[in-house]
Amino acid sequence: MAALEKRSRSEWQELDKEHHLHPFTDHKDLHRKKSRIITRAEGVYIYDADGNKILDGMSGLWCVNAGYGRDEIVDAAAAQMRELPYYNNFFQCAHPPSIELANMLQEVSQPQFNRVFFSGSGSESNDTIVRMVRRYWDLLGQPERHTIISRKNAYHGSTVAAASLGGMKPMHEQGGLPIPGIVHVEQPYWFGSDRTLPPDEFGLAAARSLENKIQELGAHTVAAFIGEPIQGAGGVIIPPDTYWPEVQRICDEYGILLISDEVITGFGRLGEWFGADYFGTKPDLMPFAKGVTSGYLPLGGVLVADRVAEVLIDRGGEFFHGYTYSGHPAACAVAIENLRILKREKLIERVKNDIGPYLQKGWQKLGEHPLVGETRMVGLMGALEIVKDKETLERYDEKQGVGTICRDFLVNNGLVMRAVGDTIVVAPPFILSHEEADELLDKAWKCLDLTQQALSS
Ligand SMILES: *Cc1c(COP(=O)(O)O)cnc(C)c1O
Repeated sequence: MAALEKRSRSEWQELDKEHHLHPFTDHKDLHRKKSRIITRAEGVYIYDADGNKILDGMSGLWCVNAGYGRDEIVDAAAAQMRELPYYNNFFQCAHPPSIELANMLQEVSQPQFNRVFFSGSGSESNDTIVRMVRRYWDLLGQPERHTIISRKNAYHGSTVAAASLGGMKPMHEQGGLPIPGIVHVEQPYWFGSDRTLPPDEFGLAAARSLENKIQELGAHTVAAFIGEPIQGAGGVIIPPDTYWPEVQRICDEYGILLISDEVITGFGRLGEWFGADYFGTKPDLMPFAKGVTSGYLPLGGVLVADRVAEVLIDRGGEFFHGYTYSGHPAACAVAIENLRILKREKLIERVKNDIGPYLQKGWQKLGEHPLVGETRMVGLMGALEIVKDKETLERYDEKQGVGTICRDFLVNNGLVMRAVGDTIVVAPPFILSHEEADELLDKAWKCLDLTQQALSS
């Protein structure tokens, strides 16, 4: 902070209002309420300009998995920036951090993954995906295989291609998306369905909406299927156990590439290195970002299985694609140190065997609250559904904004969780202690009470 002006909260807010356009923000609404200015962070807590201490139940934006205040990561970035702050990986060059990180990534991923293409974010990674899978089929002499199948309510990022892969209607409506050759099938969201099928059958039916679409389009036109192992931004949608094995069967049967978007689920969120490991799929491509650096610097990439990499290398010639910051040295140094921390402190095992089960147990208890219709959590990624009627699971009218009311109570009581409609989602850092988990759960219960009181007054 030394280099910044010392300003009061209201000065920051005023400057922010006058000069700063925020991502995913209704600015009129923001200007009425004013921005919350976050000034520092430590462990699992963030602090605002008024000195309020807030438990970050979202790990920033699903990324600060190793927690805040990690001097080892800061030191790794500083050391790398002193040595070589920037050089590119174009024109037959490379540098130690990009090479070392590529090597570490193949070590922690499934055996088919031996190569990685770097980007600067999850959105860029998914732009790379669109270009790479189409290139792959072109090189195999099947240029008609260009359609990528995704899912409704998926989130794959916000650039033109990534937002097209995503299945968010409001995003598609702004800017004429999706781009051609991207179609969307059903999501495996049992609670959000009419719930006439038992979850296992529902999972199979959701997977078969992929098969039906492949048959409708003709398998010879389908390049790939992309999905988040657990949909994050869509509301932490955990598919029934039957879903991913059936998707894998379908991809295998029709020879189409399986893309597992690991931007949230990668690097331990589900208690395994990747969501694909948790669900037992064998993807061909895995875009990643967020947790690879615990958010300390921006970095993304795509893990590329041999099936795809060998075609690109052996038959491809030059692939006219890349980013100035593909494999940025400081970002790679940060990722390397972050992966070392995950290993050294056994944080992924901790999510699987310790804090994951502990938080899950307490989270399930929130299901006893009169406002809660369902709770779900895998690893440290969970959601609860606010309902009007606990028996019928009827929801509140969307216009009431009950999720947002609850979210505002939460943050005003010192806990960040996110509202997706009336679904409250949670994804805390892996270093969360049992005590901090108790604090999270106590605050969640209290704010559900406050929400209920607000609704009945
Ligand atoms: C956040 C996210 C992205 C986009 O990543 P950015 O770094 O914001 O571009 C892509 N896919 C998933 C699953 C995400 O959660």
